[in-house]
Amino acid sequence: KTSLVWFRRALRVTDNRALRTALAASESVVPVFVIDPAILKRPDTGERRVAFLWAGLRALDTELRQRGSALIVRCGEPAQELARLAEETGATALYYGQEYEPAGKARDQRVVEALRNLESVACRDHLLAEPESLATKAGTPYTVFTPYFRLWQEQAFLAPVAAPERIPTPQGIASEPLPESVSVLPAGERAAQEQLQGFARAALRAYDTERDFPALPGTSQLSAYLKLGMLSPRQALGAARQCREQLPVDRRAGVDAWVRQLAWRDFYYQILVHFPHVATGSFKPKFDALAWPNDPTLYAAWERGETGYPIVDAGMRQLAQTGTLHNRVRMIVASFLTKDLLCDWRLGERYFMQQLLDGDQAANNGGWQWAAGTGTDAQPYFRIFNPVSQGEKFDPDAQYVKLWCPELKRVPAKWAHKPWELSRNEQAAVNCVLGKDYPQRIVEHSEQRARALALYKMVAKED
Ligand code: FAD
Repeated sequence: KTSLVWFRRALRVTDNRALRTALAASESVVPVFVIDPAILKRPDTGERRVAFLWAGLRALDTELRQRGSALIVRCGEPAQELARLAEETGATALYYGQEYEPAGKARDQRVVEALRNLESVACRDHLLAEPESLATKAGTPYTVFTPYFRLWQEQAFLAPVAAPERIPTPQGIASEPLPESVSVLPAGERAAQEQLQGFARAALRAYDTERDFPALPGTSQLSAYLKLGMLSPRQALGAARQCREQLPVDRRAGVDAWVRQLAWRDFYYQILVHFPHVATGSFKPKFDALAWPNDPTLYAAWERGETGYPIVDAGMRQLAQTGTLHNRVRMIVASFLTKDLLCDWRLGERYFMQQLLDGDQAANNGGWQWAAGTGTDAQPYFRIFNPVSQGEKFDPDAQYVKLWCPELKRVPAKWAHKPWELSRNEQAAVNCVLGKDYPQRIVEHSEQRARALALYKMVAKED
């Protein structure tokens, strides 16, 4: 039997259950990736992420070639392309990784229906806990993270499977060439492994104390690899557990805190699966009635990193220039857009998806709804981040803001998160005159805070 192995996310040969399962059941397999022009045209598809995908496909092709196979690349509507390829190769089965996003699930359903005469097998390659595997005692999905995490921790997850040594593949199948691309992040499973091992050796054990400081290399920077499956969460968890075992019991808090983040990843996926309305609206529907002013001038200043609030501007410039952003700063800029600029969180959600290398619908949507106070979190909407105290707390030496806002370079750290408190002469003395060298604040935090509270109160009476 010949089987198609349809790659979408799990762009790896190691710990790829779809590939392993297909190989176990077939004489030969045809690894295929279908470039869907409809996805490339979507407003939430970012150029940087696409370049990283191309580079990832090349890396995957290299891994496959080392095992006697190659990646077939086709461009077009997936159901049609896969049907055509099945006919060309005489394939009688289709193996692929389970999908969770609403659009991806609908596409898979279309493909399975169109390829009715092929056996279709969905495998588990993207999450640790499958969305339907954890439920409350009442049998309902979890909507609060802490109890979800308690149960999550008790699970025996699947172990990673090794890469196959040989991948028998029929020869001579035509493939489209992959476009040239320059990715800002080295792509592929080898690069992902290097990043994981480096993190496990260095920052992982101090993750609990360093993860919140954007100037420190305190986090793993694995999210883009996890998003496209150049690394599996099973491999990530395996490395963490290995590191944990080697540490004395009282020094395991860093590893434990990091594993908790992997659970957040699963948590937001299960929210998206069980409550697909979050893809377009608030998790708590009452917040859909919020009358966001959505002032385009304020929104544009946020995107450009010219709000006059250094921690916000530094974050937005880092995002635009690199496609990455530290989690703490994601929370700060998201809170600022919604609670200070009174713009709909969906505007920020879409911009993040366009810019982020790790742009992932479940995590991004969860993060934005958390920040906007419309999501699953018990955190009430009236807890509003103060961009100055957040900056002072998490960037105390102003190293981060000075890196991305060089206008502030000579401003003493004490004032770097609130340069407006310097007199005009003091500003001139450090080459940072507001309105000339660095923007004036576009809003005043305490005033906007009051406006935001009034806005939310109109729809959240019962809170
Ligand atoms: P680490 O701190 O090393 O964490 C390890 C892994 O755990 C991450 O790689 C990621 O896969 C997962 N993880 C960590 N925090 C979260 C979280 N809060 N929710 C879900 N998974 C998490 N993450 C994305 O992967 N894609 C997104 O598009 C995305 N958008 C976000 C938008 C907002 C507004 C916010 C507040 C958070 C968003 N996150 C997103 C979550 C988080 O910011 C990133 O996962 C993290 O910054 C990635 O850096 P890291 O790999 O060094 O993470």
